[in-house]
Amino acid sequence: MSLLQGKVALITGASRGIGRAIAIRFAQEGADIAFTYLSSVEKGQALEAELAAFGVRVKGYRSDASDYKAAEELASQIVADFGTIDAVVNNAGITRDGLLMRMSEEQWDVVINVNLKSVFNLTKAVIKPMMKAKKGSIINLTSVVGIRGNAGQANYAASKAGIIGFTKSVALELGSRNIRSNAIAPGFIETEMTGEINEKAVEEWKQSIPLRRGGQPEEVADCAVFLASDLSRYITGQVLQVDGGMLT
Ligand code: NAP
Repeated sequence: MSLLQGKVALITGASRGIGRAIAIRFAQEGADIAFTYLSSVEKGQALEAELAAFGVRVKGYRSDASDYKAAEELASQIVADFGTIDAVVNNAGITRDGLLMRMSEEQWDVVINVNLKSVFNLTKAVIKPMMKAKKGSIINLTSVVGIRGNAGQANYAASKAGIIGFTKSVALELGSRNIRSNAIAPGFIETEMTGEINEKAVEEWKQSIPLRRGGQPEEVADCAVFLASDLSRYITGQVLQVDGGMLT
């Protein structure tokens, strides 16, 4: 059974890591894929070819998720290219870590803009076609750090906590329109983002995880498939942790 047959999905930041895994899983499930990238142009173009091999409609767009106007233009272009948008995965995200004492205004602003403002930008842009279609699924990538906080990540934690408040508010506002809004909170997932953390810290993290290992991008992607599909049709306003039991 193809869980996403006939659906059009937009995934932001799909050139690498979790976004890339989500795009591949969605294509495997029969979804037509619109995805974005920003600096990894070659990887974005390579992904377009890789996804097309699944026999679905695919288009990659170079677009900065933190830019409000660009998000509006992107959504209009996708509707022109694909006809509608059934699901959006707000995945684009960055870290600029540092203790608060040393954190610059620039480090704060860029993380809030790329991680949190982007979710506002894209969600606002896609709810128009979703309201017209009287259905939609909004999926936002938060983090266990947004729930618990993390020393050295005040900017990132604030952006991810903000996403949770936003996700729940949108669920309340748009439930009557049959538009669902949920968040995924990954724990420690092995991607380039976590590749920067030193080995000793990684080992300590792993020992504190009940399943005793880091997660794979595909394990987050499976959760996104569930939330984009009709299997989750009565689920909205929730934060699903994909963290091996880390925050229990
Ligand atoms: P990653 O490997 O660093 O990939 C980040 C992706 O975001 C890249 O494809 C990048 O595209 C894109 N991106 C960055 N800034 C962008 C912008 N302004 N506009 C559009 N795209 C942009 O990160 P990841 O580990 O896959 O993380 C994906 C999401 O999961 C993030 O929101 C992250 O906070 C969240 N998360 C990750 C973990 C983890 O353990 N890895 C845990 C919890 C939550 P370009 O390279 O093309 O710029």
